[in-house]
Amino acid sequence: MSDQRATIAEAVVAAAGAFTAEELHRSLAVSAPGIGLATVYRALGAMQEAGSVTQVGQRDGSTLLARCGRDGHHHHLVCTSCGRVIAIDCPLGGSLAGREVGDGHVITRHEITLYGLCADCRAHEED
Ligand SMILES: [Zn+2]
Ligand SMILES: [Zn+2]
Ligand SMILES: [Zn+2]
Repeated sequence: MSDQRATIAEAVVAAAGAFTAEELHRSLAVSAPGIGLATVYRALGAMQEAGSVTQVGQRDGSTLLARCGRDGHHHHLVCTSCGRVIAIDCPLGGSLAGREVGDGHVITRHEITLYGLCADCRAHEED
């Protein structure tokens, strides 16, 4: 099991951008065919808890994960073409936290998912 976890962790490090558990599982199928999808899910879940991978969006109904070394509150912009992920400052500037809205509700946290095209992919599109 720990060998499989190590193999999965290596595949995560090798991933160029955002990936889903299914994509990672597929990329392992050649080098490590014995690793099941359930094992990949469990390993990625543990890595998410440990903070070594972060949820950065959704693709085809699956959670998109990526490595991100940035601390503190921020969001992610995912290139929908190549999967490259960049960390960006919060466009809300933290102004939502603690604000009362509606019928006395208080906002305690928020998530923003941003999708776009990176500079390289935009250059390709313009070709
Ligand atoms: Zn991040
Ligand atoms: Zn791109
Ligand atoms: Zn924010």
